[in-house]
Amino acid sequence: MPEPRRLARSPIASMEPNRFPLALLPTPCHPLARASKELGLDLWIKRDDLTGFVMGGNKARKLEYLIQQALDLRVEVVVSCGAAHSNFLRQLAAAAEMAGLEFRAAVMECPYDSGAGPPTSQGLAPGFGNQQICSIIGGKFVFFPDGDWETLFAHGYALEDQAIAEGKRALWIPVGGSSKLGVFALWKAAQELTERFDRIVFASSSGSTHVGLGSFFKSSGTEIYGVACDPEPEIAKDFAELSKETHEEFPLIHELKPEELKLDFGFVGEGYGIPSQAGNEAIRWLAQREGILLDPVYTGKAFAALLHHAPRWRGERLLFWHTGGIPSLFALDRHTWDLNS
Ligand SMILES: *Cc1c(COP(=O)(O)O)cnc(C)c1O
Repeated sequence: MPEPRRLARSPIASMEPNRFPLALLPTPCHPLARASKELGLDLWIKRDDLTGFVMGGNKARKLEYLIQQALDLRVEVVVSCGAAHSNFLRQLAAAAEMAGLEFRAAVMECPYDSGAGPPTSQGLAPGFGNQQICSIIGGKFVFFPDGDWETLFAHGYALEDQAIAEGKRALWIPVGGSSKLGVFALWKAAQELTERFDRIVFASSSGSTHVGLGSFFKSSGTEIYGVACDPEPEIAKDFAELSKETHEEFPLIHELKPEELKLDFGFVGEGYGIPSQAGNEAIRWLAQREGILLDPVYTGKAFAALLHHAPRWRGERLLFWHTGGIPSLFALDRHTWDLNS
């Protein structure tokens, strides 16, 4: 008996989780003529700063799946934690409101890595940037004095317990949206590219951008180059763990080992959330040549790495994946900027 005729379906269509639309996709991807000429590269940029959702950023991609999952689970409250200046919490607060979900988050102005200790330089200005946008959107941000990430997590979990004690169905949303669904979102984003690149450079932090892009381009000849924004060398192991879990749920998404997750720790500066001189100079460099803005916590530091390594990458066709973060520019007070320039 002949096999029944089946509609041709791409593998991704058959495995795609439900999605709550938030972002304008695909985001633009275009060459940077002036920067290319000056750096001796064929430099392109992927504009996830233009997702069109509460001032852009890569988190809208992840939230499309995370919010739909919360709705599918019939959750009432979503709970998370992060820096008060978090781009993720800004986008999560807005997405939750749109979906009719209550949102609560434990925040610190500037949480730090326990190994590295508290930073001595100034972070972003309290009350500005993402925090201003969050005060417009709503949601419950519970502030705690600065401490390490472990302490912040404990506060976040306590908020979740409290919601449950109130009799509500609560869902914990991982920091930065880096769950299996977050990886899926960026793995899918990689399929928007219509050009082939020698290398993709981007700011890496909670891991799903790195794991998503990395697994899509595994063994493809495209080098995936993450620039770390946190001073925690052990994060490659956490990323590999995330990759393993994702592969178990979505077998088409390749698994990556720690040694396959290239992370450059040379541009973190003083710590997570602390603007650096090289990062601020990179922001100015790109703004003056291309009229494109970067941010002081993530993309400015990643672009500083690109400027630094450009001589060694000469002649490459290189993509800078702009992950957003623009609101933080408005929390980079004049004092900090002058201090660093
Ligand atoms: C969250 C974020 C990143 C890092 O993405 P991850 O998937 O968390 O590693 C980079 N840039 C900006 C602007 C971000 O908000």
